[in-house]
Amino acid sequence: MRLANVGGRAHIVASREGGYRGIDVHAASGGRFPADPLELIEEWDGFRDWAAAAEPARRADSVPVTRNDFAAPVPRPRQVFAIGMNYNDHADETGLGVPASPSTFTKFPTCITGPVADVALPPGDVDWEVELVVVLGRAARGVPAADAWDFVAGVCVGQDLSERRMQLAPPSPQFSLAKSHPGFGPTGPFLVTPDELDDPDDLELGCMVNGEEVQKGHTRDMLFPVPELIARLSAVVTLLPGDLIFTGTPAGVGLGRKPPRFLSAGDEVVSYIDQVGEIVTRLVTSPHAGIPQPDARP
Ligand code: ZN
Repeated sequence: MRLANVGGRAHIVASREGGYRGIDVHAASGGRFPADPLELIEEWDGFRDWAAAAEPARRADSVPVTRNDFAAPVPRPRQVFAIGMNYNDHADETGLGVPASPSTFTKFPTCITGPVADVALPPGDVDWEVELVVVLGRAARGVPAADAWDFVAGVCVGQDLSERRMQLAPPSPQFSLAKSHPGFGPTGPFLVTPDELDDPDDLELGCMVNGEEVQKGHTRDMLFPVPELIARLSAVVTLLPGDLIFTGTPAGVGLGRKPPRFLSAGDEVVSYIDQVGEIVTRLVTSPHAGIPQPDARP
């Protein structure tokens, strides 16, 4: 199942004749399930069973929708976890080394935006990071890795946009702040349930900047695969339905290039995951260019 956010209402979508058809979950269920995407994920198990039985995507009352209609699959997650250096080749290019346990930070939830988004560039060096984003479907606490996928509602494509000067400024690196500017968490195009994937632990992902391929990798190369991340995070924190986990990026970010390359106004970043979809992020001049940025030292 593919679950999209269309105008703040959850829609089950299916590909049809080069586009999509969507079913409004609240309407199609006769009001049984809420329209709000996060409230719906709170009732994930019941909703998934209903959707499997009702086959709502085949219904005659579906409406045509396009990717431009889609907002973030979970627009207001309560917690957003992100993992740094989760691929060997990316750990190498950053020079930060391979971590002994998942290097965890947050992208504050106000940075989350949708699959087709204009993002204002703050001062500094803004970089791209395509990532598999996992959406929790159940509260999780102390979950063993072997059971972890049962706690996942689905996955989507994400961009962990990062302002490198603040992120890496010595002596106080600021991963969470530098990756949480407005719009720095594009996600989408929709939530794809794990049963739609040939192997949820082996997906090709990559991104293009202005049509040039800059990243291409496979999630099978994660140092800490999705089940291991959920086990280790839920050993410490209670994970909630709708929480997002940005699972790390493969090699090819601008910081790792010689010379380094960063994004400019007018650049377009296309990020994709095989069997999941693609999202498009355009960088634009900041309307808040006058806001002083503390300590963005080169
Ligand atoms: Zn990242």
